[in-house]
Amino acid sequence: MRHGNRGLSAYGTTIFEVMSVLARERGAINLGQGFPDGNGPDDVRAVAARALDDRSNQYPPMMGLPELRQAVAAHARRFYGLEVDGEREVLVTSGATEALAACLLGLLDPGDEVVLFEPLYDSYLPMVERAGAIGRRVRLEPPGWRLDTEALASAFSDRTKLVLLNSPMNPTGKVFTGEELAAIARLVAERDAFAVCDEVYEHLLFDGHRHHPLMTLPGMRDRTARIGSAGKTFSLTGWKVGYITAAPEMLAPIARAHQFLTFTTPPNLQAAAAYGLAKPDAYFTGLAADMQAGRDRLTSGLRRLGFDVAACQGTYFATADIRSIGYAGSDLDFCMEITREAGVAAIPYSAFYVEAPPEGQVRFAFCKPAAMLDEAIARLAAWLERR
Ligand code: PMP
Ligand code: GLN
Repeated sequence: MRHGNRGLSAYGTTIFEVMSVLARERGAINLGQGFPDGNGPDDVRAVAARALDDRSNQYPPMMGLPELRQAVAAHARRFYGLEVDGEREVLVTSGATEALAACLLGLLDPGDEVVLFEPLYDSYLPMVERAGAIGRRVRLEPPGWRLDTEALASAFSDRTKLVLLNSPMNPTGKVFTGEELAAIARLVAERDAFAVCDEVYEHLLFDGHRHHPLMTLPGMRDRTARIGSAGKTFSLTGWKVGYITAAPEMLAPIARAHQFLTFTTPPNLQAAAAYGLAKPDAYFTGLAADMQAGRDRLTSGLRRLGFDVAACQGTYFATADIRSIGYAGSDLDFCMEITREAGVAAIPYSAFYVEAPPEGQVRFAFCKPAAMLDEAIARLAAWLERR
């Protein structure tokens, strides 16, 4: 047998799938892979269900349903004061995952360099490398995850084509500060580079933090692609509806990649996402408030058990330090052990670093109902008792 693609084969199966499979096998509460347990807003689902019956189920336009592209533009104006032309500057994709792939395959040439921030979301580096480009990683360290702007500057070179930024950031829960964003923007402009901003958690910020798209910074409007996800914004992660906003000249090569990746995305789900993006502000503030309550519930429970838990300003995820409960094994050992023995799954940080991961960090998802979080804490407490 010939060998499949060596680069992708070397990555194995993503940790999210590995832990979810184990959690299902063991009947564990899955605080690993980040998905909310509910079924999303009833009205959004109802629009999708009606669209399935009443409207076309054939290929929608390659760039996306006009109503969703207009809704993405209106949403950008409403929340960020960005003037976006829904006709020319929005592309609908099959989830943020496809949006990322389309941006990387559409913008990168072999030999280009990409600056990205470690810990890394699972698909970033494999897709950068599949595009023939080279990742230049800037490490962030717990518990503060502060961006070292000198390290950032030295990651740039004459070959830097693109910066890939995720804020709010999975897995750290970090929201990049205004100064950090300004430093990134300055370097991107200086190097005449692109920025691809994974903003899937744009509505999941806590404690009064506000989301500021890099695209709104001086000089960034025409060199930034901003990615959103209906999966995250409507707590419907299985839908895989994403959207990219970028200036026409930047969007054109991205659309070239999209046309050969998926070409299009289920029209009924697009119609429902369009409806959802126009929901009143109360929906969006309620989403963040519910998630913040989940964060507080999980993090206070973990702290009661003796875990040090890092500050978390957004996303679905909290980071605990397993050394604080005297656990001497690796982060992966810990996650395997609690999934099997305690009946609670989590994700080891080593999955998010290429090498030398910070020791003893694990990610727990809190995008779950209160009773499930309480049960997870009770199970961990019982496991700690037995140890
Ligand atoms: N980027 C980040 C940082 C994510 O956490 C996720 C999903 N969990 C995605 C992209 C993928 O989003 P989608 O499900 O819309 O493909
Ligand atoms: N984004 C989700 C997480 O970080 C996982 C998505 C996936 O499994 N591909 O948990």
